Formats: sequence, structure tokens, C-alpha cells
Amino acid sequence: PADVETLGRGTWTFLHTLSATYPSHATPNQQSDMRAFLMLFAKLYPCWNCAQDFQAWMQKGGNEPRVRGRGEFGTWMCEAHNEVNRKLGKKEFDCRRWEERWRTGWGD
Ligand code: FAD
Repeated sequence: PADVETLGRGTWTFLHTLSATYPSHATPNQQSDMRAFLMLFAKLYPCWNCAQDFQAWMQKGGNEPRVRGRGEFGTWMCEAHNEVNRKLGKKEFDCRRWEERWRTGWGD
């Protein structure tokens, strides 16, 4: 299997792209699909200790997925990633800039 870092980079690319292509105003159906996806993702992510910590974080008050639209969902995903960054002693990302990194591209 892929090592934890390779798996992580590929998965973050997938997850941030998922939020970058999410509708700006999601229908109730799209919102419940995304919540269901995230619950199962957090359960099945094939790095078991990563999955356990991620699930625990998601279930803590205030950290529930915010999926009404792209803006808040992208920010939530960035905060989720920052939680892992902190745990690993990596630099935190400025979540005001998630869309530049994952959707519209950095200027210049
Ligand atoms: P990554 O963290 O993989 O980031 C890739 C790119 O995303 C960065 O280069 C940057 O451009 C951008 N980025 C960085 N932070 C953000 C942000 N907050 N928002 C938006 N974009 C950002 N590894 C472990 O060792 N232990 C764990 O417990 C663990 N848990 C994980 C849980 C999940 C759900 C996932 C998806 C991964 C987990 N990982 C874990 C892997 C870890 O997060 C990294 O993917 C891995 O260490 C490789 O790091 P990296 O420095 O290449 O950049």
C-alpha cells in the first residue's frame, strides 16, 4: 500500500478539489450526500490511526461538516487539514486563501 504521506497528499488533493467543485448553494440532497460521504470517508480512510483521530475531531462540538455551499465547505475542509497540520507540527494554512490554492489559482 501507498505510504501515509503519499496517501495523504493524494487524498488532500481529492478532498480540496471536492470542495472547490461543490455548488455555491447546495441542495438539501447534495448536503446530505456530502455529510454521508464524509462520515464514511472518516471511517474507511486506510490509515487507521489517522482515521480514528479524524473521526474524533469531526464529532467534537463545533467541528461538524459545514456543507451548505462551497464557501463554508472549503473553509471547513481547510480547518480540518489545519488540525492535521498542527498535530504533525506542520505550518498552518491561511484559510482565507484556500480558493486561490484549490480553485481559482494563485494570482500571477
Ligand atoms: P499535505 O499536508 O499533504 O498538503 C498538500 C498540500 O495542500 C500542501 O502542499 C499545501 O499546498 C496544501 N495545504 C496545506 N494545508 C492546507 C490547508 N489547511 N487547506 C488547504 N490546503 C492546504 N499523516 C500522519 O502522519 N498522521 C496522521 O494522523 C494523519 N492524518 C491524516 C488525516 C487525513 C484525513 C488525511 C487526508 C491525511 C492525514 N495524514 C496524516 C497525512 C498528512 O496530512 C499529509 O498529507 C502528509 O504528511 C504529507 O504532507 P505534505 O507536507 O506533503 O502536505
